[in-house]
Amino acid sequence: MKKPILVLFIAFAILTNVKADNNPADRHKPGKNQPKNVILLIGDGMGLSHMYAAYTVAKDNIRMVQCPNIALVTTFSDSNYITDSAAAGTAIATGTKTTNGMIGMKPDKTPVKSVLKYAEDKGLATGLVATSSITHATPASFIANVESRKMLEEIARQFLETDIDVFIGGGYDNFTSRKDKLNLVDSLLVRDYTVVRSIPEMMEVNDGKLAALLYPEHAPKISEGRGDMLSLATSKAIELLSKNKKGFFLMVEGSQIDWGGHDNNLDYIISETLDFDKACAVALDFAARDGETLVIITADHETGGLSIPGGDLKAGKPEGKFSTGDHSAIPVPLYSDGPGSDQFHGFIDNTDIFRTMVNLLRLGGENE
Ligand code: MG
Ligand code: ZN
Repeated sequence: MKKPILVLFIAFAILTNVKADNNPADRHKPGKNQPKNVILLIGDGMGLSHMYAAYTVAKDNIRMVQCPNIALVTTFSDSNYITDSAAAGTAIATGTKTTNGMIGMKPDKTPVKSVLKYAEDKGLATGLVATSSITHATPASFIANVESRKMLEEIARQFLETDIDVFIGGGYDNFTSRKDKLNLVDSLLVRDYTVVRSIPEMMEVNDGKLAALLYPEHAPKISEGRGDMLSLATSKAIELLSKNKKGFFLMVEGSQIDWGGHDNNLDYIISETLDFDKACAVALDFAARDGETLVIITADHETGGLSIPGGDLKAGKPEGKFSTGDHSAIPVPLYSDGPGSDQFHGFIDNTDIFRTMVNLLRLGGENE
């Protein structure tokens, strides 16, 4: 019995090898493993079930699952078995486990530097895009160092302490309607940012620094008229950042998948995940053309404890069942493509994402 199986295995190995060697589109050749650019896309709260519910509705036509490299990522924080988005964002952005609620700091409140700031210091262009306020926990983890994610006005102020090139999302009020009466939009203008408040205005910006604060607080749900904001913002950010010859780092967040999870609302989850996947497609299409861009698609944690106890793939109908109105401890999937994407495989920790990005971009950053 053993021999035929061995022969089959060898035949399979030879066949799959031949296939890889003959594939002219194979971008993972030796020597081509150093990305110039990294696009990190975070679906907040997007677990495996969230992806598969969207996959079922789209009848398998989603882009993130076409990535050749997949890993599973643990998400626990320093303080809790179940993380929040601040500690999870901090782990991904800085490689440091911290206390739930803290942004860009160790549990003892020592500030830690994010991959975005390491990239900035090496002369790369940097950007953030979100469908929440740009001061919300996930994007904030890449730009700010604060004790609490609730310090939205302080997070907005810390944008001015950086050299970030492009940021697009909500949160206009955190820059303008502040307790300290400062108007940070004026400060952005002084620092040569083009500041816009609408998508058509954003699309007309063709160079320089861009602050697109499109909503007073968060963007509306996709089901309530957000339109193509996320994919347009992703493509505009890539267009502007890719003018930098040294490369760029961009983080794009599908912020509201998490909110669908908290609401135990499967339709909200699916529409937000499909919209997020469109932004993933924009990034993957750019990476395929460019050949020097690593695309990483993951989540900061799972939300809702979602399972799929039934459904119909042909009809495109998943059935969802939630086990919590909060986050869960379930590890999240990570999908990646482009040079260096083979470094993301196996069972990894969210802090490994930071270390691998920093190594691949040769940023020389170490936070521990
Ligand atoms: Mg978030
Ligand atoms: Zn959440």
